[in-house]
Amino acid sequence: MGINTSRCVAVVGAGPAGIFAAKELANNNHKVSIINRDIKPGGLAEYGIYPTKHKIKDGLRKQFYSIITNENISYYGNLVVGENADISLKELRKLGFDAILVTTGAQGTKWLGMPGEDLKGSYHAKDIVYHFNQLPPYSTYEFHIGKRVAIIGVGNVMMDIARFLISEKQVETVTAIARRGPAEVKFTRKELEYIVKNLDMDDYQSEINRVAPLMNTLGQDPFESVKFIREAYPNAEETNSNSVFRIKFLVSPVKLVGNENKEIVAIELEENTLVRENDTIKARGTGQLSNLEVDTVIFAIGDAVDSNFGLPFDRNEFVKNPKPRFPINGTSYESFDPISLKIIEDVFLAGWARKTSDGLVGNARKDGVNAVQAMQLYFETLENPSRGNIDIITSFLQNKHKKIVNKFDLSALLAEESKIATQKGIENFKFARNEDMFSVIEQNRVSINPSP
Ligand SMILES: Cc1cc2nc3c(=O)[nH]c(=O)nc-3n(C[C@H](O)[C@H](O)[C@H](O)COP(=O)(O)OP(=O)(O)OC[C@H]3O[C@@H](n4cnc5c(N)ncnc54)[C@H](O)[C@@H]3O)c2cc1C
Repeated sequence: MGINTSRCVAVVGAGPAGIFAAKELANNNHKVSIINRDIKPGGLAEYGIYPTKHKIKDGLRKQFYSIITNENISYYGNLVVGENADISLKELRKLGFDAILVTTGAQGTKWLGMPGEDLKGSYHAKDIVYHFNQLPPYSTYEFHIGKRVAIIGVGNVMMDIARFLISEKQVETVTAIARRGPAEVKFTRKELEYIVKNLDMDDYQSEINRVAPLMNTLGQDPFESVKFIREAYPNAEETNSNSVFRIKFLVSPVKLVGNENKEIVAIELEENTLVRENDTIKARGTGQLSNLEVDTVIFAIGDAVDSNFGLPFDRNEFVKNPKPRFPINGTSYESFDPISLKIIEDVFLAGWARKTSDGLVGNARKDGVNAVQAMQLYFETLENPSRGNIDIITSFLQNKHKKIVNKFDLSALLAEESKIATQKGIENFKFARNEDMFSVIEQNRVSINPSP
């Protein structure tokens, strides 16, 4: 037992969890194959974090590209793992990897399951976020964004979408719909600073006055909620938009109302009251209904894992081994089949694929590194040397009937995008279509290796 040897590992997903895990694995002398759905690495750091947050995005981008150059790491971009995808998890497991780390994030979408969700103008937050962050194919989709938009949810994703609607789309009104009260909002003051100048403060104050008696009965201080908003003003970003931003508290959507063209015309809301249950504040419907006239509704209520990936899942998450063999700080990184009650030996989980919508890049990074610690303990239990042959794996993956992007292609792409940004005098330029990225990649391949 415990042969300390180099292992062959597949990391599926090149977001922060996957890339920082790959770095850790490579530093431990393991051979890592990163397989990523998108051409470019970064996941939500590239295609989720708000586009104008140049400092954090650029800093992360540089780290990711530098990690991928590690000689122990191979990169296979534009390759999707899953049922009915380019390669199934089953197929991948047969290739000879000693372990597979799944860091695919939370690509599934959570809906409330109410009537009208299929109407034109009803979207999930991720589609809009991917769109304004220029991830193909979402980058080129046409979204039906009307003048009046409701966003369901009051977290930081809602704030990013509100920011896009206010500053880029300049819609008339953006109304965030909160199931609970002002004390339960999940967005941070920092995110509020970007749009607080568009907040209808009179409306906010009258919402507070409306819910104050209920807050008082729960021991909450309504004044604190007003203070939280006011504290965003000293660092508030200037606005060039007349959009009006409002937050409507204590209401749950029950139905999207459409017209004869199947377009949204209103959202039906049920009024809620709040009850305290075991230290959590829960919303309870009162049966009182009202309509808010809107043209577009965006659901920012969290994410789910991809149910077609090929791993067992339960209520939005992949199933983890409830009694982990290699717990790290009490957390299980091991995949588990609840039907056969068996551990899926060689498959580990990290980042948003382990726990959906869980925190910022720093959390995902730490989670990737922790998962590697768990894998390291697993490797110590393996009796035989690595069963993987990196040359066979490489030739198999490269010969999939698909254009695969490698780490050299990535540097050429990054160089071209930086060149265009400089020519245009902008901070960042991104190709919005895979075809354009492949055209740069192919030109570069020809220039490196011209045909005789
Ligand atoms: C709107 C929004 C704004 C955010 N803003 C911030 C911020 O300002 N600051 C901050 O620190 N954090 C922010 N975050 C959080 C941060 O982006 C996440 O914490 C982090 O990206 C999660 O990392 P991950 O690696 O687990 O997943 P992801 O970043 O989602 O990466 C998953 C990767 O897996 C790949 N993949 C998916 N499915 C497959 C498949 N089937 N086969 C192969 N590859 C696949 C994807 O292409 C992607 O590269 C934001 C998140 C969102 C949604």
